[in-house]
Amino acid sequence: MKVAVYYNNHDVRVEERPIPQPKSGEILVQTKACGVCVADTMEWYLTPRAPLTLGHEPSGLIEAVGSGVTNFKVGDRVVVHHHVPCLVCEHCRRGNFTMCTTFRTTHIHPGGFSEFFTASALHVERDTLILPDHVSFEAGTLVEPLACVIHAIRKAGIKAGDSVALIGTGTMGLMFIECLRYWGVRDLVVYEVLDWRIKKAKEFGAKEVLIPDNNPEKEAERLCAILKSNGADKVIIAAKDIRAMKLGLRLANKGGTVTFFATPQPDEFVELYPSFIFFNEITITSTYSADHLDTRMALKLIASGDVSADKIISHKYPLEKLSDAILQTASRHESLKCVIEFE
Ligand SMILES: [Zn+2]
Ligand SMILES: [Zn+2]
Repeated sequence: MKVAVYYNNHDVRVEERPIPQPKSGEILVQTKACGVCVADTMEWYLTPRAPLTLGHEPSGLIEAVGSGVTNFKVGDRVVVHHHVPCLVCEHCRRGNFTMCTTFRTTHIHPGGFSEFFTASALHVERDTLILPDHVSFEAGTLVEPLACVIHAIRKAGIKAGDSVALIGTGTMGLMFIECLRYWGVRDLVVYEVLDWRIKKAKEFGAKEVLIPDNNPEKEAERLCAILKSNGADKVIIAAKDIRAMKLGLRLANKGGTVTFFATPQPDEFVELYPSFIFFNEITITSTYSADHLDTRMALKLIASGDVSADKIISHKYPLEKLSDAILQTASRHESLKCVIEFE
């Protein structure tokens, strides 16, 4: 089978390897499509571990099942989530599944950018989902990223009727716009700086799309006037620029929540104004990845059409062009989701 091996964003080599056999409880999946994530472009995060095979947003056909697998059969169309929790550790018992050590260390092998991969018994038991017939393999690749969006909405405690300020409308930001509509959010103010993304945000249904003022204080005043309140009940920072984070910290309403969703470089930092946070009872939270409850919800929203997979996937590439897909994803130049397609 062909396997893509990542060295850096410009150097991805396709190697030939034997097809693995599923052990007891495992499944072997023939990959049909796998999404390219912004995390697959973060060289500072990836190159220390290279060479490695990436791809955590795969969908495919079950090619073989190991002994003891009864809930799936050869030929099933599936999405496999790459991380699964143990359900019994201290983090899982509090519902923080993505903090679980088992969650962090479970992976599909060798990864989604490979013609075949195996998934462990835990994956098979907890987070392998059947794709409904009308959902394409490409659309199935959005289950994982959309689940991350849903994880953030749940962790931020967003409810129908909340006002929300969303900063950044890349692929994830656009899925936030659609999900927030599903969640009953009507008062949504979106911030974006790139022209083509402003247009996209409007296409996805955002009514109020603003270019943020460089001065967060001034921007907060404008937002208060728009929302006719002291700020947004919930603020989602879905852009990794530090200026976006400074802005987000200033936009929350009294009693509001600010959610850090994007990943900055590890040495970047922002200053806080504890007095503003104290007197306004601001909650600051963050979300990492998505759990087995979020993936089920994500598949439901893709299957129902509440999230428009066909509009979110902008580019398709063969495995040999993975480096191009990674560079396109990193460039932020007129592209949304890039997906690797397999024959
Ligand atoms: Zn991802
Ligand atoms: Zn656990």
